[in-house]
Amino acid sequence: MKQGDGQTADRGRIVNQDQAHYPPVDPIRSGLAGRCPRCGEGRLFNGFLSVRPHCGVCGLDNSFADSADGPAVFVILIIGFIVCGLALWMEVTYGPPLWVHFVLWIPLILILGLPALRMLKGVLINLQYANKAAEGRLDRPK
Ligand SMILES: [Zn+2]
Repeated sequence: MKQGDGQTADRGRIVNQDQAHYPPVDPIRSGLAGRCPRCGEGRLFNGFLSVRPHCGVCGLDNSFADSADGPAVFVILIIGFIVCGLALWMEVTYGPPLWVHFVLWIPLILILGLPALRMLKGVLINLQYANKAAEGRLDRPK
């Protein structure tokens, strides 16, 4: 926890205080580009899918970022629909041998799925920040 830069232990308050200092960033655009949800300029990812602990430009603490299984689910549904549709169409139309399916669809899954996984993770983290989404908690009176 740092004092003076608007960060507190409460995740919801971090997001509320951040919006006073930075203009809103389009979460879809910055997420697709893998950019910071607060400033839209700093890189969000350290490697391919690991999230940086802090933004290099604005210093946003990315500990709130937890997209969990969301990106994988979307990739499975979207890319799976495309590839399964193409495989079924090719099987019904041309009836190729099985090895043709392996040669075509496994690389296509990797080519489409890996970049989509990174982009969707960026979008979901940016949307999580923009919508102040956090883990559910019970507010108990003290
Ligand atoms: Zn930033």
